[in-house]
Amino acid sequence: MAINKEWHEKHKMPKNPSFEQRMEWHIEHSKHCNCYPLSEKIEEELKQYKSKKKKDKS
Ligand SMILES: [Zn+2]
Repeated sequence: MAINKEWHEKHKMPKNPSFEQRMEWHIEHSKHCNCYPLSEKIEEELKQYKSKKKKDKS
């Protein structure tokens, strides 16, 4: 697993992240770094978050 230290330095998770902040963080994280695999729970949350986002737009 490769860790993108630079990205992590610049993108620290807020201390009390909202659901949305957490989801955005994971989306960005998965684009730039793969230091750990997503847990099933987070993948599930991401799916819901993305489909909700789509609905809100249209
Ligand atoms: Zn990482």
